[in-house]
Amino acid sequence: MTDYYEILGVTKNATPEAIKKAYRKLALQYHPDKNPGSKEAEEKFKTAARAYEVLSDPKKRSQYDQFGERGTQFGSGGGFQDINDIFTSFGDIFEDMMGGASPFGGGRSSRKQGPKRGADLTTTIEVSFVESAHGCERDLKFERQGNCKLCDGSGAKKGTSRIKCAQCGGRGNIFHSQGFFSVSSTCPKCRGQGSIIEHPCSQCQGRGHQKESRQLKVKIPPGVETGSRLRLTGEGEDGNFSGTPGDLFVEIYVKEDPRFVREKNDVISKITIGLSQAVLGTRLEVVTLKGQEFIDIPKGTQPGDRIKLAGKGFNSIRGYGRGDHYIEVNVSVPKKLTRRQEELMREFAALADDMVNRPVAGFFERFKRKPPVDTSKH
Ligand SMILES: [Zn+2]
Ligand SMILES: [Zn+2]
Repeated sequence: MTDYYEILGVTKNATPEAIKKAYRKLALQYHPDKNPGSKEAEEKFKTAARAYEVLSDPKKRSQYDQFGERGTQFGSGGGFQDINDIFTSFGDIFEDMMGGASPFGGGRSSRKQGPKRGADLTTTIEVSFVESAHGCERDLKFERQGNCKLCDGSGAKKGTSRIKCAQCGGRGNIFHSQGFFSVSSTCPKCRGQGSIIEHPCSQCQGRGHQKESRQLKVKIPPGVETGSRLRLTGEGEDGNFSGTPGDLFVEIYVKEDPRFVREKNDVISKITIGLSQAVLGTRLEVVTLKGQEFIDIPKGTQPGDRIKLAGKGFNSIRGYGRGDHYIEVNVSVPKKLTRRQEELMREFAALADDMVNRPVAGFFERFKRKPPVDTSKH
């Protein structure tokens, strides 16, 4: 278990400024230009970038605080495979360094923009409680940045191609020397791409990208809960310069259901039965995740007792095991009794040797008040 706060050496309630400052310090310490060839430094550089990626984004940070690493990446992956992605993602930090007291260049001195991975997209799907138990399918419609169909993402007019930038000789950056160090900056002509477009594509005006709407069927597996994230690999935005597309993350929100509560993989529901049902036992219908079902309430059931329906809970999202359904029984004590019911209750109390209150004043009078038939007059 990696702790991103620990990696950056900040406390859990660190301000965004403190997080940025801590990351800058580490990025400088483990910068590849300062540690040539050191695998260990490179690993630390990447780990710090991953921690900063999550903690600098308020949404990712709150997900991380709630769900740990699982909240920010469903399944495996995440983080930075290629060190160049770090310079691209946090350009502002490295540019800051260049303007400040740091002797290190913006990004890496030998960097030329190669293929760039497309951005990840995130969307939310709301499902009902019962759907979260059984899994379901949803049609998802969303907009994304896709490669231009006319130029295949190159940005160059059909039949032409990009040409090498003359100013930087195709390297994407130009060098200046600054004291002991050789410092590079992004080539202003090609903006670091190393090549330029002479004849831009008419459809995308040379951007290589276009907004497109996309429709997908998403299968939501049984057992998901609020905060679960599904990763649809390659369904994010298309990359630049034949980079791989990003991923689409689907966040699940499960609506509440007044009939059920989830506890881990178990389901809890409640029923209320009458006093005599609790005492004598009964058989009645309850609602489960699979619909109506009859259950037996045994004789002598106590208020708060739970009746277990084994295996009727949620599938574990990990694919093995299944939770149970517990029916919590509430016993309702009658507030009003008929005369006959009260008589029987008093008889019951006497047999059980239970001390009970005397009948409220007027109880018997009520029945006595019925005027007796008077036969004395006339
Ligand atoms: Zn185009
Ligand atoms: Zn150039």
